[in-house]
Amino acid sequence: MKSAIVFIAALLALSFVTVRAEGAEPKNVIFMIGDGMGVNHVTLTRTVAEELNMDKFPYGGIVTTYSMDSLITDSAAAGTALATGYKTNNGIISQTPDGKKLKTSLEAAKEAGKSTGLVTTTRITHATPAVFATHIDDRDNENEIAEQLLMAGVDVLLGGGLRHFLPAGEGKREDSLNLVSEFINAGYTFVDDREGLFAADSSPLLGLFTMSYMNYELDREEEEPSIAEMTEKAIELLSRNEEGFFLMVEGGRIDHAAHANDAASVVAETIAFDDAVGKALDFAREDGETLVVVTADHSTGGLTLGSGAEQWYNYEPLKSISISFESFAPLLNGQNTEELFEIYFGISPGEEEIKRIDEAVKTGDLYTIESAIAQVVSARTNIVFTTTQHDGGAVPIFSYGVGAESFSGFMDNTDVGAVIKEMAVHREEKSMIDRVLDRIRG
Ligand SMILES: [Zn+2]
Repeated sequence: MKSAIVFIAALLALSFVTVRAEGAEPKNVIFMIGDGMGVNHVTLTRTVAEELNMDKFPYGGIVTTYSMDSLITDSAAAGTALATGYKTNNGIISQTPDGKKLKTSLEAAKEAGKSTGLVTTTRITHATPAVFATHIDDRDNENEIAEQLLMAGVDVLLGGGLRHFLPAGEGKREDSLNLVSEFINAGYTFVDDREGLFAADSSPLLGLFTMSYMNYELDREEEEPSIAEMTEKAIELLSRNEEGFFLMVEGGRIDHAAHANDAASVVAETIAFDDAVGKALDFAREDGETLVVVTADHSTGGLTLGSGAEQWYNYEPLKSISISFESFAPLLNGQNTEELFEIYFGISPGEEEIKRIDEAVKTGDLYTIESAIAQVVSARTNIVFTTTQHDGGAVPIFSYGVGAESFSGFMDNTDVGAVIKEMAVHREEKSMIDRVLDRIRG
């Protein structure tokens, strides 16, 4: 009996010392995902911006992204790996291909008594936010995802996607359910503009600022909050919980810009995301008990810095572009192409280029028009995209704060997800006995 007590006491001391020494259990976790943000996307943005908050992180590495059924993942499968630690097939949200639900880091944090939040510049029902709080076999079923978000009880939800919360006729729902009313009935404050966000002083909070995606940073309206502003508000509200919090922030439109082969928007979106990273870093530095991990779910567009026989690229022309391809394309009508390029791009296109653009405009197909615009820009930058889809490249990871050393070197996305999930549950919350048992079981 006596020796058993000594043994347990020794184990307690050992476990306590080890936990303290490693300092590996953060109170708060801020997980930031640049959708589609491959290594070259960050490299190009760093070249333009000169300094990135991501570069101030002491640990970094490279992450593989392939899914269970493809070397090139989509955001659902990649997000599932990052949220749960398990691979699945493309298109599936946080469950196995045969339908078994996979517990997410956000769910684990909530069970541990922490506050939770999801922030995105896409629809809040889009794959990356969805994988943290919902489970479904088809990412495109966003109406169902919106319903599951209500059941999930996430404390702060900020982004676009109002159309999946409004009854038939007002948005994309086919039933009479008004989910905004349901969230309000469940105790949520609802806001739909920047001013409302700033005024919000309690959670749970639902902020849906656009019907679909939020606007690209280059096109952002005055009444739409930036990703940095949403991140700051989420941290402000979630950090009131003494048990800690788990927050996921997605820079969701880096991916869309790369799909559109729009290099200027890739840069603008990545800078906006990096501003949000700065807000997380400021909080973590002050707080001292927070882990911040920044990574991507996959790389998009096969972004190439320098193409062809000559070895050069020039980012300067990107700095004069003041509109996204998505907003620019509808302005083109086959008559004032030259003038519009001068106004919005600071570029004077040649005769051949104008002809090619006008021909693309005649097709009325957005992708064809965007790809013609991309050619005009690439001719001046030698920055090119090799695909309008995702590519198989590895993505970067950066980490700061308590437990940050666990995210360095070469990792698979399931390793990142598994460690985040472990860290989302603060070990101090476990009883001493649980800790001893953990150690005995290895
Ligand atoms: Zn994508």
